[in-house]
Amino acid sequence: MTARILNGTKIRDQIFAELRDEVRLLTSAGVHPGLAAVLVGDNPASELYVKSKIAACEEIGLASALLTPPATVTTLDMLAVVEDLNRDNNVDGILIQLPLPPQVDTKRILEAVDPAKDVDGFHPVNLGRLISGRPGLVACTPAGCMEVLRRNDIQIESANAVVLGRSDIVGKPMALLLMHANATVTICHSKTRNLPGSVRGADILVAAMGKAGYVEANWIKPSAAVIDVGTNRVTDPAEAERLFRNFPARLEKFRAKGTALVGDVHPDAINIAGALTPVPGGVGPMTIAMLMSNTVKAARLRRASPRFSATQSTARAR
Ligand code: NAP
Repeated sequence: MTARILNGTKIRDQIFAELRDEVRLLTSAGVHPGLAAVLVGDNPASELYVKSKIAACEEIGLASALLTPPATVTTLDMLAVVEDLNRDNNVDGILIQLPLPPQVDTKRILEAVDPAKDVDGFHPVNLGRLISGRPGLVACTPAGCMEVLRRNDIQIESANAVVLGRSDIVGKPMALLLMHANATVTICHSKTRNLPGSVRGADILVAAMGKAGYVEANWIKPSAAVIDVGTNRVTDPAEAERLFRNFPARLEKFRAKGTALVGDVHPDAINIAGALTPVPGGVGPMTIAMLMSNTVKAARLRRASPRFSATQSTARAR
């Protein structure tokens, strides 16, 4: 049987429609939520990501600003940029597009972002809130994966969930979110013994390793829900043959373009799993949806906080 496709693009569109209504309401109450993106240098992939984030802002009616420091920027310059954005009351969300150039201390920059404006959910304060189950801004990709599960009525409570990968931005927050939703969670990483054995026990499998088609279809429990976070660009024809041997149309497309995007789960999993996010069109669109959602949430939370009222009265007094 073929797996049910968990269509991230469709859910993103639903979320955008909901956010558009919310932004309209906020705007009519005098609040115009805004996102500021900081794009350093001229990395084409980063430029593309930021462009799609700014386009998403326009689509739901958020204000947006793009700051483009040169590739030679220093840590101190970047700290000054972040400080200005922290102080700017028109900015609800700050997005520092990664990677930053090697001379910039990335951790220091991310930690300088006001946690109330940390719409990527990377700040240790927000990670701490996530650990203790308190409201805060949650990293967009794992938050998007949870939204995919919930909006497709996939049972999380009491499920055995296996997360492949333990990065700060995907694996760890993902495992915490699943645990808070009452799944029993196993986290696997590069030193895990018998990965196939762990995967076989998963009712919910989240793959976030960055290894094209690494998870074999026959490791997956029939009926499992598979969330494939991996986004890997394949250019090697032999690799494409291995991945698309049962998908002639995809193989044909690869041959024409010389490149294809694949997840961490082998495409054959579609014939085993109960439900599955496609790559592309699964988790990717959800990450942008949650970035927009976090920006609107940040606007609401900030304006409700006593700190915001204090900064407003200080600004008025000036
Ligand atoms: P990362 O920081 O490189 O982390 C990869 C994780 O996978 C590490 O914890 C690593 O283990 C583990 N791993 C690597 N090889 C393994 C193996 N053979 N067996 C078991 N575990 C293994 O990557 P990331 O930032 O979390 O991203 C993961 C993937 O998701 C990438 O493909 C990335 O492009 C994609 N991604 C997609 C989106 C989206 O919006 N769709 C967003 C973010 C990331 P160790 O800790 O032991 O090294």
